Amino acid sequence: MDEILKVEGLKTSFMTSSGEVQAVRGVSFGVRKGEILGIVGESGSGKSVTSMTILRLLADTARIKEGTIRFEGQDLTKVSEKEMRAIRGQKIAMIFQDPMSSLNPLVPVGKQVAEIMKIHHPEMKPEQLKQRTLELFEQVRIPEAAKRLRSYPHEFSGGMRQRVMIAMALANRPDLLIADEPTTALDVTIQDQILKQLRSLQREYGTSIIFITHDLGVVAELCDRVVVMYGGLIMEEAPIEEIFANPLHPYTMGLLASIPGVHKDKSERLQSIAGSPPDMTSPPAGCPFAPRCPYARNICAAECPPYVQAGGHRAMCWLLQPDAPAEQNPLYGKLAAAEKEVQ
Ligand code: SF4
Repeated sequence: MDEILKVEGLKTSFMTSSGEVQAVRGVSFGVRKGEILGIVGESGSGKSVTSMTILRLLADTARIKEGTIRFEGQDLTKVSEKEMRAIRGQKIAMIFQDPMSSLNPLVPVGKQVAEIMKIHHPEMKPEQLKQRTLELFEQVRIPEAAKRLRSYPHEFSGGMRQRVMIAMALANRPDLLIADEPTTALDVTIQDQILKQLRSLQREYGTSIIFITHDLGVVAELCDRVVVMYGGLIMEEAPIEEIFANPLHPYTMGLLASIPGVHKDKSERLQSIAGSPPDMTSPPAGCPFAPRCPYARNICAAECPPYVQAGGHRAMCWLLQPDAPAEQNPLYGKLAAAEKEVQ
């Protein structure tokens, strides 16, 4: 399948008074046309900085230090700010966790959606803009859509405001939609409705989606593939069924153990991963997960492991290397199976 986005060797840092915060330290992945890619990780893993780097929506203190971001043949690290403004909202749109911070409280929501379309399509007449906004509101299932066009953001619930944001993001039929924790602040029922909505709109428009979340359970419901990030690096990447059936990285296993419902035995307690993420002003030389990893060995803290790849599944962990002691290696059988698949 063709890739609409190809990120290679991306490194993004923030220059702060405490030193350089190396938020993203060499990340490579692709997004195929019409697929939903999940990027999963805890706070500080680099997942949101990666998405903000793609859209070049970084703070003034940020620097893209290395790497390329190829989108429809253009390297977004090289295009001018003017070209980037034309791409944002038109070809790549974004939905954030808090819709209130993205909506103007003083302007009716219908007008805000129409204005986004007008920026990129100045030829559209007021009646066309209104008609298209109404269609979008109906598509994202805002009840009494015609009446709600004139409502203000505070007159909507959190879930309805997020639907307005989705309508706004889809207004110009973008090729790529980046959704950064869009359901985190919503209750489970509304979250489920929004996820179904995103899936059906993706099918209807054929839009590619990058869905950023800390929750592997949400990824299971929505995504085709998943990238797991930690310490500014990709720990594991795999098709969605594969990551649940055959996780290769101890960090992914820790995330899986913390999802309700993955445990078949209801009496088994959910586990959280003890410890905290690394300080990115002085990231570890070796595997960033080493201080929290139950399988860490001496080499783990000293040197970063290379990726082991089998088909569309890759992971970086010393335990996946053939010289790892088999009897201490919880992943050894999986590696052998993965290697067989490659041969
Ligand atoms: Fe754990 Fe070592 Fe693998 Fe890192 S490389 S995940 S510390 S076993």
